[in-house]
Amino acid sequence: MPATCSRCRSAAAEVNLPYAKLRLCARCFKDFYTNRIRRTVEDFKMFRSDDRVGVAVSGGKDSMALLHGLKEAFPAAEFVALHVDLGIRGYSEHCREKVEELVEMLDVELEVFDLQRELGFSIDDFKDTLYRRKVCSACGTIKRHLFEVLAGRAKTRVLATGHNLDDVVSMMLNNFFNRNWSQLVRLKPVLEPLMPNQTFKVKPLIKTPEDEDLLYCLYSEIPFREENCPHAHVGRLRRNRETLEYLSKDNPNFKYQMLRTFLKLIPILEGHVEKPKLRKCEVCGYPSSSQICAFCRRVRIVKEARRTRNKGEPRL
Ligand code: SF4
Repeated sequence: MPATCSRCRSAAAEVNLPYAKLRLCARCFKDFYTNRIRRTVEDFKMFRSDDRVGVAVSGGKDSMALLHGLKEAFPAAEFVALHVDLGIRGYSEHCREKVEELVEMLDVELEVFDLQRELGFSIDDFKDTLYRRKVCSACGTIKRHLFEVLAGRAKTRVLATGHNLDDVVSMMLNNFFNRNWSQLVRLKPVLEPLMPNQTFKVKPLIKTPEDEDLLYCLYSEIPFREENCPHAHVGRLRRNRETLEYLSKDNPNFKYQMLRTFLKLIPILEGHVEKPKLRKCEVCGYPSSSQICAFCRRVRIVKEARRTRNKGEPRL
């Protein structure tokens, strides 16, 4: 006989959560999922229940589940979906369509930054630059900056991102092994702005395992992208993920134990990590540790490559 749900004791259990010793039916799972988001936001004081909050949505399952879950958990808050159209051929259009579908379904405001239309290049153009083998690194810098721009346009001081438990724990491992303490500290649940007028970055899914984002999307009929980015590749982070899965096999609480340890270590780490000395970027005015910020340097490189390509000169 199939097991019954540990919460409602009436419907058949469909989801097994060994770390919580729960077997839940679809409905109780959705409640469990949104309650955890609510508790995480409240425990870490990410925002008030009537705040205006920007939510970075890429079209992927994590950020789409985040927007839906936040809306369920905080019906009085005002959410604005922020999306960067990266102009990646055969991929970005699909992502944007999914985002547009979800905001319509939830009746949420949408703010889009269209890279090709507004800046005249796409992420694909980095293939013609020195970033050809690390397009994701350039893309990450571009997105981080543009989400800040979008938050400014949407007039929100809080930017929620879809980093889940697996993302954070695997990045922790990566930064730990590379002794990158300043980046390790930046994984904390609420990241204060580097300069006044910038956003507080919050991670409401920091306690949510990645596979539960997918389940939540499926049970709630949330649209999300089904295509993979052509620039994605299996990297060190993926290998860290595999290590994590291996370590979690006999201990379903392993990732939570790591997260708890990290949260306890943050104040100690912060006391030892030197804060970067920031000034305004000479081009865009955003905070930067050098004269010209990382975003503007990459924009310069990619635009130069486009100009060279259009003139028919050999590639850099
Ligand atoms: Fe950008 Fe890389 Fe993600 Fe593609 S896989 S969207 S290039 S970060």
